[in-house]
Amino acid sequence: MDKQTLRHLRFPNVFGVGDINGVPKGKTAASVKWQAPVVVDHLVGEISGKGGTEIYNGYTSCALITKIGQAMLVEFDYENRLTPSFPFIDPLTEHWLPWIIKEKALKATYTAMLRGMA
Ligand SMILES: Cc1cc2nc3c(=O)[nH]c(=O)nc-3n(C[C@H](O)[C@H](O)[C@H](O)COP(=O)(O)OP(=O)(O)OC[C@H]3O[C@@H](n4cnc5c(N)ncnc54)[C@H](O)[C@@H]3O)c2cc1C
Repeated sequence: MDKQTLRHLRFPNVFGVGDINGVPKGKTAASVKWQAPVVVDHLVGEISGKGGTEIYNGYTSCALITKIGQAMLVEFDYENRLTPSFPFIDPLTEHWLPWIIKEKALKATYTAMLRGMA
């Protein structure tokens, strides 16, 4: 796949989302959340003949539990630039909020994603 458009390199009418994509980063469910709109944009652009414009930047996310009650939420792109969703939390320091997110919120988020609601 082209790592930005997620378009197959030999079969231009084929796009990919998720772990199946042969891209350098992005083997997480969090990545899928950012990949899906890009693929939809290019599919709609393909059908309309206008082409797509959205680009996937390699966003991925690792929630690293360091101990009970503490975790680090490290989010980064293809270039390993940090892309924090919560700018007020240092992604390289353990904190209680990422632990709550990992323990309590992510499962509900993934379930909502499966239903197309997130
Ligand atoms: C232990 C673990 C922890 C993780 N934690 C996180 C996390 O905290 N946050 C995060 O964002 N990501 C996490 N991930 C990564 C995340 O689970 C995957 O990136 C995500 O599930 C990829 O989604 P997908 O739809 O591409 O593939 P999958 O979820 O693997 O779905 C592929 C589906 O295709 C089915 N399938 C396979 N072959 C066939 C076939 N021939 N015919 C029909 N069906 C088939 C499989 O059964 C499966 O249901 C974790 C992964 C693991 C293993």
